[in-house]
Amino acid sequence: MKARRVLERELSRIPPPLSHKLYLEQYVTDVGAATELLFMGFNGGGIAGKRVIDLGAGNGILSIGAILLGAESVTAVEVDPDLAKLLAENVRGYPIEVLNEDVSDVSGHWDTAIMNPPWGSQSRGADRPFMDKATAIADNVYSIHNYKSVEFLRKYYSGKGRILKERKILVEIPKTYRHHEKDKEFFEAVIFSVTTVED
Ligand code: SAH
Repeated sequence: MKARRVLERELSRIPPPLSHKLYLEQYVTDVGAATELLFMGFNGGGIAGKRVIDLGAGNGILSIGAILLGAESVTAVEVDPDLAKLLAENVRGYPIEVLNEDVSDVSGHWDTAIMNPPWGSQSRGADRPFMDKATAIADNVYSIHNYKSVEFLRKYYSGKGRILKERKILVEIPKTYRHHEKDKEFFEAVIFSVTTVED
């Protein structure tokens, strides 16, 4: 298993997208938040030796991180064709399959879903198809959301399974879009660990 520091260093080397599409709420999860989610998954037994799906994979930071922590394979789903191209380049050589499609169109079954879905700040409810899909196709879900929605998220996930962990974190979002006024901004986020199967 990789130490946290080593993982962070490797994740910070993954090439980011050159441009961003606002309507898809594209941005790269900061390395600290990605590491936090990945270790929550690893410690919960949802990564090592597992078949993992990354919904809205972007540049592949979560997909590659999962492989580095011992996942057997990752399916990386990304709707944007430009980003799917970069994703395919970034994951070359890893056991990661890229699907250039909408998360709603995915079918199959995976041990674990990992995701940093759109937070719905541009288009309300944009994270819902991700949550619906993840809880339908995977036994374990690890997901980052806007902390503002925490009450709703608790209700939603409790209705789909059992919440095992909930951790509040700060994420750094760089000035990707013009409507962000400062160079960097910090947002309160929450990572949920959910199981959809009962033992
Ligand atoms: N997982 C990456 C990117 C997070 S941003 C990271 O952690 O850095 C959310 C991503 O979801 C963007 O890349 C966006 O293009 C993608 N996306 C948005 N709506 C989507 C949809 N309906 N289906 C698949 N991907 C989608």
